[in-house]
Amino acid sequence: MARYNSISDWRAEGERRFGKDVKNWKFRCPMCGHIASVQDFIDAGAKDPANCAYVECLGRYTGKGTPRGQKDGRGCNWAAYGFFGIPNDDHDVVVNAQGVPIDVYSFAEVG
Ligand SMILES: [Zn+2]
Repeated sequence: MARYNSISDWRAEGERRFGKDVKNWKFRCPMCGHIASVQDFIDAGAKDPANCAYVECLGRYTGKGTPRGQKDGRGCNWAAYGFFGIPNDDHDVVVNAQGVPIDVYSFAEVG
């Protein structure tokens, strides 16, 4: 788990890994291990792809079911928003402008 103490710190890490074009940023679902880019969400028809990619599994848009309890990378319908957050440690935390820590999907590894 990585913790970013501001949204700008988080954005800086995203740019360091993937560059300034947010469409190229990739995140890993904490429940199934599926990795998707913002572009994948655009292609799948998400209404707000840049803001979906770090809190939703792409499987929500491709007809996947509930998490199966294993990280097989096949996609699931998990979303991190809401009061339950993410029920494991395989994710990052970003502290927002109000000082509230928000659970987000981890950045994917580069390469
Ligand atoms: Zn998933």
